[in-house]
Amino acid sequence: MKDVLADGLGRKIEYMRISVTDKCNLRCRYCMPEERVKSVAHEDLLTYEEIAFVTGILAEMGVCKVRLTGGEPLVRKDIAELVDKLHSTKGIETIAMTSNGVLLKSMLPELVSSGLNEVNISLDTLNADHFERITRTACLNDVLDGIDSAITYGLKVKLNCVPCRELNNEDVLEVAEMAQDKKLDVRFIELMPIGQGKLYTGISSDLILERLTLKHGTPKELPYDGHGPARYYSFDGFNGRIGFISPISHMFCSSCNRIRLMPEGMLKPCLYYPDGLDIRGMLRRGEKKEIIKTAVTEMLQRKHKKHGFGNGDTGNAEEKRMNQIGG
Ligand code: SAM
Ligand code: SF4
Repeated sequence: MKDVLADGLGRKIEYMRISVTDKCNLRCRYCMPEERVKSVAHEDLLTYEEIAFVTGILAEMGVCKVRLTGGEPLVRKDIAELVDKLHSTKGIETIAMTSNGVLLKSMLPELVSSGLNEVNISLDTLNADHFERITRTACLNDVLDGIDSAITYGLKVKLNCVPCRELNNEDVLEVAEMAQDKKLDVRFIELMPIGQGKLYTGISSDLILERLTLKHGTPKELPYDGHGPARYYSFDGFNGRIGFISPISHMFCSSCNRIRLMPEGMLKPCLYYPDGLDIRGMLRRGEKKEIIKTAVTEMLQRKHKKHGFGNGDTGNAEEKRMNQIGG
């Protein structure tokens, strides 16, 4: 029987987000500064062998789903090799990726044949000028092509949109309406005051839902699927669901099911706090599997009850940017 991994508060941990790089080919204003930023040195990144080894250990402990993220996961060389390794890791049932979608179309054949199952693609606007303003790059059409290709390849596709007053306030309904005709879900994520995110004003999930309701009628609230923080709604005439991830207005920490592996090999129990376990150090010192398992179990006993966004408890908060932590 499969082991169950749980934290000190009894929350079942079955999902690991793996950030493979802090580098990105876009510069979204709420995530990264425009100027060149120092990135993790190549020798400090976990190798694909190390990531697969750690995933194998975590899978033996109870993790069954992984998501590759970053930075932009598709800019790390030969990323399909990692997908392949994770695909052959015993106990891993789902391999997902969060991507900005720019390089997706050309890489999909290899990613899919390596075992990728799901992709979440970031899309904050369908207006090409606004897209360029937000990401500081003119490549909306590449992202749209990536979305269509992912659907054609039969992947489970979700779009992630972060509504900001200053950046895409007037564009969010159009993004939601992508779920009218296409086989995908659209999720709105409340902006978190992390790194560059502190410079912008997020829009609450309730307000987006209100605007959607005004235009498309009252939706049906779907039962919680037991996975992840999103709450979903079904609107009449929409193919896909509309989801809301609301870390600021509706804290979801009591159902948290995840841990995060950062590019330089820190295993983090919570996005908000800087503490974690130096997995890379353990691996490179040649620690035995059982020692690593014990350290992970101990770390999870200390997994925080809840994040501190919005309660003024910023003294203890993570100082890294979202592209460094792995959003
Ligand atoms: N580059 C990939 C992408 O953009 O999808 C993966 C990494 S990105 C950090 C993952 C997600 O985090 C994106 O959907 C992005 O919009 C979101 N994000 C970045 N900064 C954020 C912030 N301060 N608050 C909420 N979401 C944020
Ligand atoms: Fe890059 Fe994703 Fe951050 Fe945008 S949100 S800068 S695409 S890591």
